[in-house]
Amino acid sequence: MAKYIFVTGGVVSSLGKGIASASIGKLLESRGLKVALIKCDPYINVDPGTMNPYQHGEVYVTDDGAETDLDLGHYERFTNAKLTKDNNITTGKIYYSVISKERKGDYLGKTVQIIPHITDEIKNSIKKVSYGKKVDVVIVEIGGTVGDIEGLPFLEAIRQLKLELGRDYSINIHVTLVPYIRSAGEIKTKPTQHSVGTLREIGISPDIILCRTEKRFTKEAREKIALFCNVDKEAVIPAIDVKSVYEVPCVFRKEGLGRLIVRLLNLKCEEGTLSGWENTVLKRLKLPSKEVQIAVVGKYITLRDAYKSIYEALIHGGIANDARLRIKKVDSEDIEKNGTQKYLEGVKGILIPGGFGNRGIEGKIKAVEFARENKIPFLGICLGMQTAVIEFARNVCGLKHANSTEFKQNTKYPVISLLGEQKKIKAKGATMRLGAYECRLKKPSKAYSAYRREKVYERHRHRYEFNNNYRQILEKNGMIFSGTYPKGNLVELIELKNHPWFVACQFHPEFKSKPDKVHPLFCAFIHVALNH
Ligand code: GLN
Repeated sequence: MAKYIFVTGGVVSSLGKGIASASIGKLLESRGLKVALIKCDPYINVDPGTMNPYQHGEVYVTDDGAETDLDLGHYERFTNAKLTKDNNITTGKIYYSVISKERKGDYLGKTVQIIPHITDEIKNSIKKVSYGKKVDVVIVEIGGTVGDIEGLPFLEAIRQLKLELGRDYSINIHVTLVPYIRSAGEIKTKPTQHSVGTLREIGISPDIILCRTEKRFTKEAREKIALFCNVDKEAVIPAIDVKSVYEVPCVFRKEGLGRLIVRLLNLKCEEGTLSGWENTVLKRLKLPSKEVQIAVVGKYITLRDAYKSIYEALIHGGIANDARLRIKKVDSEDIEKNGTQKYLEGVKGILIPGGFGNRGIEGKIKAVEFARENKIPFLGICLGMQTAVIEFARNVCGLKHANSTEFKQNTKYPVISLLGEQKKIKAKGATMRLGAYECRLKKPSKAYSAYRREKVYERHRHRYEFNNNYRQILEKNGMIFSGTYPKGNLVELIELKNHPWFVACQFHPEFKSKPDKVHPLFCAFIHVALNH
């Protein structure tokens, strides 16, 4: 039977519970244990797929096509856990399921209530993830902050689960903030005391308190937190700010977190080591021999989380090539106002990420033109590929005003358009082309040189596709279609002749990159950017 770690958060949001959960997963895997990770999100959306990046940041996509919270990206980057739609549970999903059952008559005669029906549904969804699988520990992260109204049913569900599971089978790790008050020159433990107090009112006592803090704290502070929060001294773990999130598993290990979890859950496992991770990932991250600047041209660049996996995959490309990555975030609307030169002159590579809607499109097309004409290594992703096609059609093939029907319905040259099956769809949630699809690579091609295999599987999240009516004319002018989805004859990868490295894909390679296993396209992109 799997054992459970419930991760809750207190005081404020954005404490890095996702990174903490992923790092705990990494620690346990390093000891030879098999982990599963679940994110519970208390919002009423069924999934974040319909949310604006300003609300939610990046929408992460799994192989099975679930649109999920970006924390699942951290889980996949840090661990080997296989994630599916079941690994992200939202209030919306829980209610959807309970209400559907009620309509079918499954609860006939009963009043359907938060307790027990909603809480049972949550518990079953959590338990389902490890059913029939060889999993030693399930890490369940509860989104939001203790004290939020929305989070209550989830906390009640884990309270009940803890009771059912009994001793040695579950623990609660509470992540809090221990702020440093500059004017007083001290750290403050009161917010942590209050948030643990709130948690205990709900019936949950933390077993471990992870204290996010910018300053090392004293033995006395540790003892104080332990005393007021009713935990052992060694269960108060300082989680001090670090430069890179990839250091966190090592920091936790040094603080004895792995050993403590093993003891509290009575796990049978080896001592383990993180030296592989330290030697490959951290060493190169800290002391690289080279440096490279890449521009990311998007419209959500002021948001840290909107292109999370893109930024991480670029960093992985840096790690693999022994280079520090300087990311220059360029707003495509600024390019529209002031031209490309000002922002893109001197960068060693240009990346255009995915996106939706008209805003900023013309700036992205200008950035493509700049990369193509000045022979700057270019990687286009999803919308980035679509803008590359539009630019090439307009400026090389003479198809004036070519466009995607997403931006101009009755454009004369719809080089990007909807497939027939997408035209019928009205509902917005989970109706795009989602998840992993096969892509066949052409040999020889830059894509093939990067992947070194002919068949790959990559994750998608888009509605629009390359319009095959324009394949011939674009090909004649020097575009190479180096990857296709064989079943639907869909274009998945394009490249340009007479350019050092101009590659764009309809899928999202960034979702499959890891710090110790960089995605081939990001590796190749950074390699050329460094050497061109
Ligand atoms: N808006 C485009 C589409 O729906 C691209 C989507 C994306 O970049 N993820 O096809």
